Amino acid sequence: MTLVGAPGVPPADLPGRVLALDPLGSEAFRLRLHVPGLGGEPAPGVFFQVLCREEEARDPLVRRPFSVADARAVRDGVEVDLIFAVVGRGTAWLASRRTGDTVRLLGPLGRPFAPGPGGLRRVVVAGGLGVAPFPLLVRTLRGRQASPDPVTVLLGARTARRVLCAREFEAAGARVRVATDDGTAGTRGQVTALLEEELDPGLGPAEVHACGPEPMLRRVVDLCAEAGVACQVSLERVMACGFGACYGCVVRARPASGGPPRHDRSCLGGPVYDAARLAGVEW
Ligand SMILES: Cc1cc2nc3c(=O)[nH]c(=O)nc-3n(C[C@H](O)[C@H](O)[C@H](O)COP(=O)(O)OP(=O)(O)OC[C@H]3O[C@@H](n4cnc5c(N)ncnc54)[C@H](O)[C@@H]3O)c2cc1C
Repeated sequence: MTLVGAPGVPPADLPGRVLALDPLGSEAFRLRLHVPGLGGEPAPGVFFQVLCREEEARDPLVRRPFSVADARAVRDGVEVDLIFAVVGRGTAWLASRRTGDTVRLLGPLGRPFAPGPGGLRRVVVAGGLGVAPFPLLVRTLRGRQASPDPVTVLLGARTARRVLCAREFEAAGARVRVATDDGTAGTRGQVTALLEEELDPGLGPAEVHACGPEPMLRRVVDLCAEAGVACQVSLERVMACGFGACYGCVVRARPASGGPPRHDRSCLGGPVYDAARLAGVEW
């Protein structure tokens, strides 16, 4: 299997053909595209800049970033899933696609999750639509060894109808715990309260992967720093180009090689960051 989306792999502007667009929970969609030009399965955590309009139209002008939710190599290309909710013009256009339509994808872009070596408990923390990159990550983690590491997925959502992909994670062999703001599913409260429980050192060494709203990610970064647990977070800053030209998506992060925090274009340096680069930094 060729994995693409790792640093050094040049992105391409590719046509994807819509295979399916299915509702997911009460407000999200899962779009499945057949992408013949993609050379292999994208690595978990990378994203595509998606042209959310007809090519001859002008609005919305810039492409919109979406994480690869899942991907399967097929005989003549790769099937790529995106998970999204309608929040504006671009996502409304995506939600109006029909089977057989073409959607153009630029990518894969960005740095993927880089799970450490085996032998750790894997804890995945997803807030709301931050669940998007995790079907592929969980499947990859569960499939990469003869006896895979245990994976626990912590899903946070406002309410039960917004809890996404729980059954899918269970089917992939993960343990799933849910927290909702209103208590209609799982425990009432924030998903980071579940993470605090999972970081109990008595449970054995762990590694955390997280994506979701930035306040949630800040708490995840702090909790993991306090617990001395390795953590990677995927940041979803608003971005225009996706390949380092516009500087719209900068965050402050320590350089990977060490030293004081600097501005970093999260489309290039991220979207996935080692939490140690963000801990104690106003990012
Ligand atoms: C690397 C990356 C990966 C992403 N992956 C996904 C994904 O898998 N699924 C998904 O649903 N969304 C994802 N997003 C967010 C997604 O790109 C935006 O929701 C999308 O651009 C909105 O486009 P629009 O034209 O519909 O809305 P717009 O009209 O552009 O915006 C509508 C509203 O959403 C706000 N908004 C736009 N982008 C963001 C953002 N990044 N963070 C917070 N608020 C935003 C705007 O400020 C505005 O208030 C990702 C973002 C990044 C940077």
